[in-house]
Amino acid sequence: MERVYNFSAGPAIMPVSVLKTIQKDLLSYQGSGMSVMELSHRSSLFQSIMNDAESLLRELMTIPSNYKVLFLQGGASLQFIMLPMNLGKTKVAYVNTGSWSEKAIEEAQKVDGLTVEVIASSKENNFIENPEIPLVSKEYDYVHITTNNTIEGTAFLNIPANGEVSLVADMSSNILSSSYEVSDFGLIYAGAQKNIGPAGMTVVIVREDLIGLKENLPAMLDYKIQADSGSMYNTPPTFAIYAAKLMFEWLKELGGVAEIEKINREKAAMLYAAIDSSTLFYSPVSKNSRSLTNIPFVTGNAELDKLFIKQAESQGMINLKGHRSVGGMRASLYNAFPKEGVNKLVALMKEFETKVE
Ligand code: PMP
Repeated sequence: MERVYNFSAGPAIMPVSVLKTIQKDLLSYQGSGMSVMELSHRSSLFQSIMNDAESLLRELMTIPSNYKVLFLQGGASLQFIMLPMNLGKTKVAYVNTGSWSEKAIEEAQKVDGLTVEVIASSKENNFIENPEIPLVSKEYDYVHITTNNTIEGTAFLNIPANGEVSLVADMSSNILSSSYEVSDFGLIYAGAQKNIGPAGMTVVIVREDLIGLKENLPAMLDYKIQADSGSMYNTPPTFAIYAAKLMFEWLKELGGVAEIEKINREKAAMLYAAIDSSTLFYSPVSKNSRSLTNIPFVTGNAELDKLFIKQAESQGMINLKGHRSVGGMRASLYNAFPKEGVNKLVALMKEFETKVE
């Protein structure tokens, strides 16, 4: 079976070695005679998958001991509301850097009695360049940022010191692909389906003092209940957690986040170099805000974009179509995306460009 170069923004490409382990384990996990999917979440076999997944993630991200790690469901989208329900007491601040930030803001606005202020935005700029993250006074319960804007292709790769107010980050599309200092944040959340594994699991990393600030929340939406029950208040997404554990092992073997960041920088540099030296393709994003994981590029001509995407498909490079709100192309180069795929894309860009001229 031929594998393709899958440039999807998520669910995204996974390493073949991880998929093979899943295949090997499928009918009988560790001699149990059962698939991981059939294991009770209360069994010792599953409990050790859960423990390993958590300790591997702690190791990979150097998560300090005063942070809890939760494996929840509902995607990053559920965190858009769960976060303000748990941490928003009176007033919260958001930095608006794209469609996902906007969704996070809209959801926070639904929390009764909570004032939501957008303290910086790149909307007027069509989201092509990230604004500075302003320092704010203590009256805010948190400042929310999106570290990587999956659709627009921008990222905050350096996080400025943020004073006394906790920084909260949606890290869905660059968790584990760039190094961040967890202690710079009060809370980090991320959907799994990009760098962590299959869809179905959401990682929440939260500083202990931010847990249990509000009472009488619905149980499933209460960080305290989820933390106190070890993410097992109800049946957790067992298969997704198992797959995430394998992904964490794969990343650890590769040398961890610092090592994959180096590789990700090389992959991104190859593609940006091709875009910047092209007479046809260009990047809509300002150089100082460019993402390493989601790289949009366009010709400026919708018909040519379409033709390019079609030719790429015929060569086994799929899911290059840009998000419908942006158009053009977008190459998502998450951790598992191989360098050879970037080489192949760059070669096609060069060939296409000469034919068009
Ligand atoms: N935030 C960002 C930055 C995303 O890229 C996505 C998904 N593409 C989401 C939130 C929503 O994630 P989910 O589909 O897991 O709810």
